[in-house]
Amino acid sequence: MALLFDTIAAVSTPPGKGGVAVIRMSGEQADRIGESLFSPKGNLTYRELKPRVQYYGYIVRCGEVIDDVLLVRYPAPKSYTGEDTVEISCHGGTLITRTVLEALLTEGARAAEPGEFTRRAFINGKLTLTETEAIGSLLDAHGSWQIKLSSEPSRRRLNERISAIRERLVRAMSSMYARIDYPDEDLGDYGDGELLSELAAVKDMLLSLKNTYRTGRAISEGITAAIVGKPNVGKSSFYNMLVGEDAAIVTSLAGTTRDVLEKSVSVGKVMLRLCDTAGIRHGENLDAVEQIGMNKSRKMMEKCELLFTIFDASRPFDDEDEAIIDSICKLNSTKIAVINKCDRECVFDKERLGSGFDRVLTLSTLNEAEAISAVTEALEELFTDGKIALGKEAVISSARQHAALSRSLDFLCAACDALELGISQDAVSSDVERSLGALGELDGRAVSEEIVQDIFSRFCVGK
Ligand code: GDP
Repeated sequence: MALLFDTIAAVSTPPGKGGVAVIRMSGEQADRIGESLFSPKGNLTYRELKPRVQYYGYIVRCGEVIDDVLLVRYPAPKSYTGEDTVEISCHGGTLITRTVLEALLTEGARAAEPGEFTRRAFINGKLTLTETEAIGSLLDAHGSWQIKLSSEPSRRRLNERISAIRERLVRAMSSMYARIDYPDEDLGDYGDGELLSELAAVKDMLLSLKNTYRTGRAISEGITAAIVGKPNVGKSSFYNMLVGEDAAIVTSLAGTTRDVLEKSVSVGKVMLRLCDTAGIRHGENLDAVEQIGMNKSRKMMEKCELLFTIFDASRPFDDEDEAIIDSICKLNSTKIAVINKCDRECVFDKERLGSGFDRVLTLSTLNEAEAISAVTEALEELFTDGKIALGKEAVISSARQHAALSRSLDFLCAACDALELGISQDAVSSDVERSLGALGELDGRAVSEEIVQDIFSRFCVGK
């Protein structure tokens, strides 16, 4: 079983052969193990190695040199994990890397579990939960906007925003507690009216942060999408145009049939998780109604948040088009009608599309640049907020963050409603405390001790 503070080691670079492999070791024994294996070149001893400086030397075990390496010591707390950490860059062959790692393990380190270095960084207060999540998405990033959203400045902005909200809630809380606990003393910053306007201001901050989720999610988690339409309208051409050469990622979509695959592809800021089913893309021998009626396709379509429905500009609107519109009209997804083949003479009557589509695009997949730019513009309008300066503003991007923020906001709304009705600070304090608790869940902090400390530091009530 994993102990919290034993010493862990792992290869941090990807498996396989490479020029250099980095092995990371963290924990109380890191320096002892480093000292027993690393022999610096020159007259230095291990203990003379300066922190955060790279040294050339040898990994020596039982008198034999295993590899010549570069080693850096990061004494606690100035390391990624907050513990004593040693990083060794050795030659990147599979066997040599494993041999160096095994030497560390033999000297007393334990093989790290997935994510364990980052977990320690969180436990040791080096990272908040939101930062941990952002680092996770940085590692999984599919597109440049996702990288921007997970980058260090963005992570910092989000931390700053959450801290600013927390500070105001803590101050409101401690004011309320001071009034409740010491009613006869003139303590606490806020009278009832002031408290209400302060909490309403914090509510607005929470709401505007919560509203960034729509954009953060479209960029980071992505929008599940499918392409439907009768045979020969250009579904495959549209799919191939979006996917291009880049979309190498093919994963099973959890919870759906094994035949449903998805490809992640960034279209402008929006990441599309394009579902591809046998029924939708390859069932050309079926008529459109049968095709739509197929169970797998229907299930998949119901799960998708976005449906591209393709029509052919060079053919008149017909019963099959009508049947497809009927089939999708009750679905909750966002719907984009794509009238394809606009390079040909248009005989398609747009009016027949009705009012069920969120956007109608007229394009030709033969004119790829223009078509992609029309799709990009529509997607960004539908799924992102153009006013958010990405990389410069705090943005939340995971369902967990959104859920914690929503809870925090709900409790705060309840507190504000109660105060408006004239209910006492005493009675609403538990809602404010819960709001603070939910905010603490957002970045993984404990709140109660903070409140206690804040009361004593601000109001000197211990006199
Ligand atoms: P699907 O059956 O709906 O998947 O349609 P395909 O993508 O296989 O396209 C059917 C035919 O239409 C193919 O011959 C394509 O080359 C052609 N096609 C697709 N898009 C366009 C377009 O924008 N303009 C023209 N002129 N032909 C297109």
